[in-house]
Amino acid sequence: MQVIETTAGTRAFVRGSTKRRVLVPTMGALHHGHAALIQIAREGAGESGEVVVSIFVNPLQFEPGADYERYPRAEDADEDLCRAAGVDVLFRPDAAEMYHENRSVAVEENSLSQTLCGRSRPGHFRGVCTVVTKLFHLLAPHAAVFGEKDYQQLAIVRRMVRDLDFDIEIMAAPTVREPDGLASSSRNLYLTAEQREQAPAIRAALLEAAQLMADGETSAANLLHRARQRIQAARLARIDYLELVHSETLQPQTTAGANSLLAAAVFFGQTRLIDNLLLV
Ligand code: AMP
Repeated sequence: MQVIETTAGTRAFVRGSTKRRVLVPTMGALHHGHAALIQIAREGAGESGEVVVSIFVNPLQFEPGADYERYPRAEDADEDLCRAAGVDVLFRPDAAEMYHENRSVAVEENSLSQTLCGRSRPGHFRGVCTVVTKLFHLLAPHAAVFGEKDYQQLAIVRRMVRDLDFDIEIMAAPTVREPDGLASSSRNLYLTAEQREQAPAIRAALLEAAQLMADGETSAANLLHRARQRIQAARLARIDYLELVHSETLQPQTTAGANSLLAAAVFFGQTRLIDNLLLV
């Protein structure tokens, strides 16, 4: 596995390779969710292709006062996981390598970013779009894999690729979960034992609402009421948002249908966890 830490290094690498290249952008502290994305990338690259993983804790996508400084960093373990997963290239720049001090250009999506996490985390998706654009330019992948756990991010990246004519296929990876249903996340490491015990309430609430819908309930208010009650039964949970939105526009819906997405962000202490469920 080749480890590249500079933008100049990516240019040399890209110039020297004609292989089909699939990128998995991450912020590190890799877990089995990331490993599943790498597996999908491996399959997408084919026998003769190559898989590139980027690990970059992107300061631009953390709002002031968020967890940028304390975001888990696990360089050696991450490198081991990538090697074991058969990654060909690990791109691991630092912030000074990625951003000029007087940088003045950003990439912004202005519709899908207005709801859900975009409302709670101003500037977050501008940071995401900007870094993803840079990674796409630096690593020139044919395809890139994003997880459905970050459903809004996936939708925004797809919109950006469409609107800005990136010739890159975006592949979606299903959410990988812990045995008790909690979506795997680097941020789960922050949870205390008690918070960790209660965190599966998020998934349980989304499933309960989905069941209610399967039983014939279509009122968003009623579905969300049930889900909210389920989450609030977890004493340490504080709901940031819990919404029913259209799965393509991400606009709130009052009636649930086959195009509905339930999405939640819930704090346990300082730790903000997200999850979502497509209602079909
Ligand atoms: P992160 O390192 O958290 O920025 O995530 C990097 C990529 O992995 C993003 O595309 C995420 O959506 C994806 N990802 C993270 N956790 C999971 C998970 N539990 N299941 C599926 N994809 C995930």
